[in-house]
Amino acid sequence: MNKKRSLEKLNQSMHAMCACPLKETAINVVPGKGSADADIVFIGEAPGKKEDKEGEPFIGAAGKFLDEMLASVKLSRDDIYITNIVKYRPPDNRDPRPEEVEDCWMWLSEQIALIDPVLIVPLGRHALERFVPGQKISEAHGKSFRREVPGLGSREYFALYHPAAALYNGSLRETLITDFSKVPKLLEEVKKER
Ligand code: URA
Repeated sequence: MNKKRSLEKLNQSMHAMCACPLKETAINVVPGKGSADADIVFIGEAPGKKEDKEGEPFIGAAGKFLDEMLASVKLSRDDIYITNIVKYRPPDNRDPRPEEVEDCWMWLSEQIALIDPVLIVPLGRHALERFVPGQKISEAHGKSFRREVPGLGSREYFALYHPAAALYNGSLRETLITDFSKVPKLLEEVKKER
């Protein structure tokens, strides 16, 4: 079976067996989208209203900003995979609870293991905390971390502010754009070390 088909099957079976209680209130599951052969996996927090309605990640204003930053480094959604630590929308867009993140963890870790990307980019503090705990996003953004995570082995993580947090904050927006511009060089460096 090719990787694309394996990822589709994984997403189907994980949705069927995921114990996350957010499944009860969400309209749709948002497993993730993009290439199963991606070198980079971007990981956000949780689906919002629009994502819940359509079943696709990052299709609102934050997603549009993300697309602009991808284009600025000559990447498109087809080159990457994008998902969230939680696959169902929390009511009223509240922060996902630790137990909800845990309920969706096996799903996320198996997506990563299957895609086997060169670089993982957690977007915002919630996603960063799952892979590189104990960091402040205000200090960690724009930095890369090599970490051993159970089930994932040793991998490279590049911390970025969440695009929704930076969208309407001029200085954070500039910082995120600058941090994002470092992605291609870092990707090449990590590829060489592999
Ligand atoms: N914010 C996220 O963290 N994920 C999405 O899919 C959309 C907005």
